[in-house]
Amino acid sequence: MMNSLYSVRMRASCHDRHLSGAERIVPVHAVAETTAALIERALSAHLGPPDKIHCHSEQIDPEAVQYAKLPDVHSYQVASVQEGRLAATQLLLGAGLSADCAARAVATLAGGAGPHGSVMRGAALMDAVNGERLEHDPARGVRVSRMDLLSTCRPEVEALLAVAGLGHHRVLEALVLSGKVLHAPGIVAELCWSDAPDYVTGYVATPQCGYQRISQLKAVGDKRGGRVFFVDQTKVTVSALVDYLERQPLLFDAAGTIAPLKKWEKADA
Ligand code: AMP
Repeated sequence: MMNSLYSVRMRASCHDRHLSGAERIVPVHAVAETTAALIERALSAHLGPPDKIHCHSEQIDPEAVQYAKLPDVHSYQVASVQEGRLAATQLLLGAGLSADCAARAVATLAGGAGPHGSVMRGAALMDAVNGERLEHDPARGVRVSRMDLLSTCRPEVEALLAVAGLGHHRVLEALVLSGKVLHAPGIVAELCWSDAPDYVTGYVATPQCGYQRISQLKAVGDKRGGRVFFVDQTKVTVSALVDYLERQPLLFDAAGTIAPLKKWEKADA
């Protein structure tokens, strides 16, 4: 197949502790080069050298691929973790979640969303009405996969992010992941902050407002983080949503807008 596409996925670990992961969707001629780049990245992970690197390539049917535009990006500067979590809560309320549900999600990530306060490998699924946890495996959660930028769109998106001071690959990858989440059926919002102890920026993403970065959602040194996806169960079943998030290939073929950094004001919500 001349135009065949492959999903290329890498994960690296040491003593079974996850160190890094990344994935791409590329044409067949780019599989070898992409695999080499992902392995190179695994070997230079700042948490130390991995003792295991899994790299997996799998052909995907070009006919099955969906296309979408990336979400618009907003960035809010907050003065403290407390203000950041308040901002996140307000953005979640703006998406239609109840105060109880928003507070439950923030507390879930703050305390470690996995069993015994551990960090989950994937995301928690939360009912958008009553805050009930819906993922079947509380340690793994839901792993969003099979998404990327269309190769012709990548240079423009990278340039736009770089001009906005958001050129680190972490931002682009989170934006692509979140873009897929927002494109999934029945998703009301997403809340995320990283488990990396030195990375305190997080975001709230919603279908109406896009990807809204918040400069501080946890304290430096805190190893807890994660993702919560809020689901409207009147629109989708959990199994259909999980199948979409984990298996449906999605390529982004257009950039969204990127707004300049703005000080968070309560009235923004
Ligand atoms: P990161 O943004 O890579 O620091 O990841 C933050 C948290 O998001 C991780 O601790 C996981 O709980 C979750 N996560 C990472 N990758 C994925 C993914 N592909 N799908 C769903 N959740 C993820």
